[in-house]
This record gives sequence, C-alpha cells and structure tokens, in this order.
Amino acid sequence: MALPSSVDVVVVGAGNAALCAALAAAERGCSVLVLERAPETEAGGNSRFTAGAFRCVYDGVDDLRALMPDLTDDEVARADFGTYTAAQFFDDMGRVTEYRTDPELCDLLVTNSRATMLWLSGLGMRFLPIWGRQAYRIGGRFKFWGGLTVEAVGGGPGLVEAFYGAARGAGVEIAFGARATELLTDDAGVTGVRVRADGRTSTISAKAVVLACGGFESNAEWRTRYLGPGWDLAKVRGTRFNTGDGIRMALDAGAEAAGNWSGCHAVAWDRNAPDFGDLAVGDGFQKHSYPLGVMLNAHGARFVDEGADFRNYTYAKYGRVILEQPQQFAWQVFDATVSPLLRDEYRIRQATRVRAETLEALVGKLEGVDAAVALATLKAFNAAVTRDVPFDPNVKDGRQTVGLAVPKSNWANPLETPPFEAYQVTCGVTFTFGGLRIDRVARVISTDGGPIPGLFAAGELVGGLFYFNYPGGTGLMAGAVFGKIAGASAAAHARGEGD
Ligand SMILES: Cc1cc2nc3c(=O)[nH]c(=O)nc-3n(C[C@H](O)[C@H](O)[C@H](O)COP(=O)(O)OP(=O)(O)OC[C@H]3O[C@@H](n4cnc5c(N)ncnc54)[C@H](O)[C@@H]3O)c2cc1C
Repeated sequence: MALPSSVDVVVVGAGNAALCAALAAAERGCSVLVLERAPETEAGGNSRFTAGAFRCVYDGVDDLRALMPDLTDDEVARADFGTYTAAQFFDDMGRVTEYRTDPELCDLLVTNSRATMLWLSGLGMRFLPIWGRQAYRIGGRFKFWGGLTVEAVGGGPGLVEAFYGAARGAGVEIAFGARATELLTDDAGVTGVRVRADGRTSTISAKAVVLACGGFESNAEWRTRYLGPGWDLAKVRGTRFNTGDGIRMALDAGAEAAGNWSGCHAVAWDRNAPDFGDLAVGDGFQKHSYPLGVMLNAHGARFVDEGADFRNYTYAKYGRVILEQPQQFAWQVFDATVSPLLRDEYRIRQATRVRAETLEALVGKLEGVDAAVALATLKAFNAAVTRDVPFDPNVKDGRQTVGLAVPKSNWANPLETPPFEAYQVTCGVTFTFGGLRIDRVARVISTDGGPIPGLFAAGELVGGLFYFNYPGGTGLMAGAVFGKIAGASAAAHARGEGD
C-alpha cells in the first residue's frame, strides 16, 4: 500500500500491544496507521507465536462467564476455577520479580486486567478456559491452578487474526513490510517517523507515535551485550523481527532506559529447533512439563529443583539455568506414570526424543551425557523420594526428595515404570525485560525526567514490570493493558486534549 504522508497516530509494530493501541486510538476518532516491519505472512510478532494465554483478575466464575459467554453450565459444573484476585496477582508479581516490579506499572496491570479483557471481548476477541494445560482432570473435575485460566480462541494466530479483523472494521490501516527506522523530532517533541518500505525511505508526520515493536530478543549482538556472554547461543522462540528498533529509536530521541536490562524470559526449548520461531510449529518446541520429571545436564547431574513451584512460576527463568549448563543443553526424563500428563508439545513430530524400556538403556541414548553418572543420579533420585506423600499435579503436593544436594520439592515421582522417555532441550529466549520508562498514561519519559511530547509505548519494549522471572500469561495482559492506555493517550495528545 502507498504510505500516507501524514496521519493522527502512527503505531509501530503489529502485535498484541500495537493493535490494542491502534484500536484504542481509532475508538477516539483518530486516523491510525500501523507500521509492521514483517511481511504479511510473518506479521503479528511474538503475539502470533503464543498460545494466547492471558493472566487476568477474576473473583469467581461469574467474572469468567462475563468474559466467556459460551461457557456452558456443564463445563462450569465439572470445573473448579477458583479465583484469581487482585491480591493474588500482586503477590505473584511481587514474589517472582523479587519485589522489584515497578509498583505503579504493576498496579495498572493488575487493576486494569479484568476491564481490559472485557474491552477485548467487546472488540470481538473470543476466549476459552485453558483446559488440560492449566488444569488436570482428577476425579472427573478440572481444577485450575497457577492463576492462568483464560486463552484466546485459536491461540496466538487466532488472536492476531481477530485483531486484524477488528482493525479493518475500525478503519485502521496496516502497512506490512514497513520498518520504522527513526523518530522525527523537533523542539516540541515527536512529529513522526522515518520508514523504510519497498526499498525506499520516506517520512510520515504524525501528531502522536506509539512504539509497540517488541524487545531486543532477536538481536544476538544486543543479547550478548546486555544479557551477557553465552546469550548469542540461545535460540529465539518467536519472531525474528524484534531486534530492539523501538528501544533504539526512543533512546536516540532522549528516552530513559528502565527495568532489568540484563534479564529476559527464557525457557526450555527443543535442542534442535531452528534459530528463530517457526509459525508452523508455534510454541510447540517448548517443553514445559519438567515439574513432572527430572532434568540432567551433560555431566549426568541434576542442576535445578524441577518442582520448586508450578511451572507458571519457574519456566521463564529456567531457560537461563539451562543456558548455564555445559554445552547449553539438558535432557528432561519421564517415566510412564507421568507421560500421559505431558503437555501436547511433547507429542509433536519435531521433538528430540528418545525412549527405552530400562533406565540403563535410556541413559545410553542421551546424546552428550555421561551415562554412568546419569544412571547413578536417577537411582539416587528414586531412592530419595518420599513415597508416603500422594502425588497430585493440581496442587503443590509436597511429595519431595530427602537428602539430595539438588532437591525436588513437589511432584517427585520415582522413575520406575517403563517405558522411559527423555527430551533434549536448550535455552529458548522469549523476550527481553529491559526497555523504556513510561508513566501512568504510557508517555515515554526522557532522561531529563519529563515525558517526551507525542511519544507513547507499550508491550515488550516497556521496562520495569519484570525482573528475573515472570508469571505465565502476563506478557499479553501487560501488552493489552498498556497498549489500550497508550492508544487512548496518543489520541488525547493528537486531539490537543493535553496529556
Ligand atoms: C513461543 C511464545 C509463546 C508465548 N506464549 C505466551 C502466552 O501464552 N501468553 C503470554 O502472555 N505471553 C506469551 N508469550 C510472550 C508474548 O508473546 C509477548 O509478551 C507479547 O506478545 C509481546 O507483544 P508485543 O505486542 O509487545 O510484541 P510483538 O507481538 O512481538 O510485536 C512486535 C511487532 O513489532 C514489529 N516490529 C519490530 N521492529 C519494527 C520496526 N522497526 N518497525 C515496524 N515494526 C516493527 C514486529 O514485526 C512485531 O510485529 C509467548 C512468546 C513466545 C515467543
């Protein structure tokens, strides 16, 4: 499409945060242009790679029914959804970030989550309970755990498709293959963007610009520079287009850096996955059922408490732990007692998997591993399990090991029932935590302290929410909350309503 020379609001990026910003600005009567660096076939950023899980506050099943009107009485009767109150969300954010999360941003995230989900539903997004992955069926009932209950219909691809449909309906233009390269500024603030599209550079003037174009996870050089040595060796789980452009453009315009620049979200990811995400496989390369088994490194040793907490609260930091192991890999080992409980991603054709009828045979198949030490490790683990505590994957069951240097605190099942299987994983980086400082209305703050007039930001490139770790499902929720706020603020600025 031919790019316009002027528009009220330019939104950079076309993932979840960007589309929330675009739709919020359009709702307020602004003309909106979305610039997406990727071609249409690869558009939608990391948001398209997700399972579409959103962490949001609900005080009971009535809140969920308001969000998911398709829930039937029968489904409600056979599920224990519990609650996920604002207090629980605050607790989770505090605990996993070691109480470093920015209190103001965290407050906005938590207190706006429910209303923002209802807003998305009003725009035509449809949601479902996360049966199976966030609730195991025990005694005929699904019990949800870990605060993560809702996902978009069709996962990430369904979410992005729904967003693009809503954008078309709202008159929002999306330019694919259009990379923003620089912010245009004058003494009054940001006045537009420079864009590269179809091999040509042009400028677009705008009354307000929203940056929502991801972190720097897909930039090996920046990863090594900020996350540290070894991070060039990580695989990227999602889009190859999030190379830090938005952060760089804003810093060049005087923005202040905020948050955990040496931190990121990184998980156990198939050892033989491609260097960047593959939309045909989506999040299928992840291997998130490690709390049900054990992980061994190249030395044949366990190196982390696989059952320290529900996977929602450990998976995002264990990628780093795997990266720190010799040759940056681990094997996840399970026996037949738990293999029916493994998540769907363990059943994909592309999984790096070995199987054997005995532990002795299995360790011989673990490529790159000291088999003798691995066998001794598994036997010592089996001997250390407290067998009198019943196994229950729906709660932190306290079935633990005793006397091991590396304990397993919950779901410790001896590996005794054949067939045994193991999956080789490495570190897959999801997104980076460091980014730009924003205020309560998503204005980008400058190193001089005040907001940069006309510049707003949302999504991964905002720093300050996440440190060290992350509660699953918060990325989409944060992107939606701050995207909606950024779009509304950009519209107010564009209409001269003051900030
Ligand atoms: C495999 C995987 C599974 C995940 N699962 C979940 C989940 O279930 N729930 C959850 O909450 N989070 C999940 N996440 C994290 C989640 O994807 C992110 O937190 C969230 O999608 C980020 O949204 P965003 O809009 O900030 O960025 P993105 O969705 O990545 O969008 C950024 C966009 O900016 C574009 N862009 C980059 N540079 C430029 C430029 N210079 N000009 C124009 N456009 C540019 C990119 O092409 C992209 O479209 C997952 C991530 C991955 C990779």
